[in-house]
Amino acid sequence: MADKRYDLPILGTNPDRTYRLGIMGGTFDPIHNGHLVAAEQAYADLDLDIVVFMTAGRPAFKQHKKVTSGEDRYAMTLLATSDNPHFYPSRFEIDRAGITYTSDTLRLLRDYYPDNVEIYFITGADAIADIVTWNHSEDLAKLATFVGATRPGYNLDRASRAIDDSGIDFNVIYLEIPALAISSSYLRSRVAKGQSLRYLTPDSVTGYIHKHQLYGAKAGKYAD
Ligand code: NAP
Repeated sequence: MADKRYDLPILGTNPDRTYRLGIMGGTFDPIHNGHLVAAEQAYADLDLDIVVFMTAGRPAFKQHKKVTSGEDRYAMTLLATSDNPHFYPSRFEIDRAGITYTSDTLRLLRDYYPDNVEIYFITGADAIADIVTWNHSEDLAKLATFVGATRPGYNLDRASRAIDDSGIDFNVIYLEIPALAISSSYLRSRVAKGQSLRYLTPDSVTGYIHKHQLYGAKAGKYAD
């Protein structure tokens, strides 16, 4: 069930139990099977009630980079997650004006949900290594537990050192996700070369990319 004011699932209605809300934060340009496997593993391993796919509106660290429109990235996320009842694609950040800061998102979520809802912010381990440089990083640590999705063999030294050196008491959990060998940049380069995306992202996402000619996809040239 969703709330009509905000594009968020309803959670926390039973005061006698604790709820665990996963927020899967990413640019999703485009979403791929690595993201979907990571969210599913976080759902199972951390005993989450639901995972909200939070497509970043105007990503804070990408203001000088070319990023596909929020509407296209959200539409692909919607298509990719529609068959999973415990995934919830949200427009919450897409609909917010200005640059997307995670501190704003988490503060709004913390105000919105009752105290019996715990928030887990899931994202790539590379992004986690930078959280100490994000806006209002001291506040972030109080608002959520952070979950860093890593690929096998990923070296956690940079993230651990940055967090230790910051002196901020972040609660971080790392999850190793073999499927994260896939990346959005790999998908974009394959599309530009006319190569297939089969088994890398749901077919509905591939169809959307070709229909809207994203990432240099040529009209009528559908590599399946
Ligand atoms: P990014 O720098 O593009 O991604 C860093 C790495 O993490 C890439 O390898 C990326 O792979 C991976 N990744 C990103 N999101 C992931 C996810 N949900 N699950 C698994 N791997 C993921 O990161 P980004 O997408 O721009 O940002 C990630 C999140 O951090 C977003 O929610 C963003 O709003 C937030 N963020 C906030 C601030 C701030 O508040 N100042 C600054 C930076 C980021 P793919 O390219 O394959 O996704």
